[in-house]
Amino acid sequence: MNALGGKTALVTGASRGIGRASALALAKGGAQVLVHYSTGAHEAKEVVKEILSLGGRAQAISADLSKADGAHVLSQRVIDIVGARLDILVANAGISKAASIEDTTVEDFDRLFAVNVRAPFFLVQQLLPVLREGSSIVLLSSLAARAAVGSLPAYASTKGAIDTLVTHFAAALGPRGIRVNAVAPGVVDTDMSNFTRTDAGREIALGMQAIKRVAQPTDIGDVVAFLASDDARWITGDTVKVDGGSKL
Ligand code: NAP
Repeated sequence: MNALGGKTALVTGASRGIGRASALALAKGGAQVLVHYSTGAHEAKEVVKEILSLGGRAQAISADLSKADGAHVLSQRVIDIVGARLDILVANAGISKAASIEDTTVEDFDRLFAVNVRAPFFLVQQLLPVLREGSSIVLLSSLAARAAVGSLPAYASTKGAIDTLVTHFAAALGPRGIRVNAVAPGVVDTDMSNFTRTDAGREIALGMQAIKRVAQPTDIGDVVAFLASDDARWITGDTVKVDGGSKL
């Protein structure tokens, strides 16, 4: 239970959903966790409270990652707290919007790429000075990057970009002892995929999957914590499908 003892971690979008589950899993492994949020101050504080009640170390930290300098602002705040060393970066914060090709607006497209791609790119860039030998970066991809599910062409392309970044980041940072991977969830019961909370939505999700239950955020968070740990020391440059066998 102490695989991550002594390590420091930043999880973006940790106020809810998959980010929250990842923060809790990392904290249970022994890491000190910076619980990032944007609008969910109360929720982030609850996550911090839960970690502290388990005997862990955590702190809430805010930044709007849709802003051009959001990643830069957040990175400076992180460095002010952790000092010279961050061991784990989970760039999880993301937004989604279902829209057909015809209905996608330029504003929606730009916002999706700002939060889902630009922010992770510049978080990695800005945190590189403190991401040292042995650190692990985990990005959030999606089933939508490899399969035409839902009506999500713009959102899905942000996740395709994440898969590409994983390849290039891993190649560039491997020689510095930094591993870079992504997890690609299928449909997970969070606010983003709240259609799973209706009978019809649940049927759609189960219809795609080999395993017939709706995924919970912990199903993803536990894999994030594994990828962050030294048990995954030989895994880099990979996007790991964590989707109950979706679209096999
Ligand atoms: P969620 O429940 O909607 O939570 C989204 C998180 O992102 C929240 O903590 C939110 O912070 C943060 N966020 C949103 N906009 C932000 C902004 N402008 N600046 C900073 N933070 C922002 O989403 P989720 O389902 O857990 O998804 C997490 C990640 O998994 C995303 O990258 C998503 O694309 C990916 N994913 C999800 C699914 C799924 O079915 N749920 C499937 C595949 C991939 P606040 O609430 O504090 O504002």
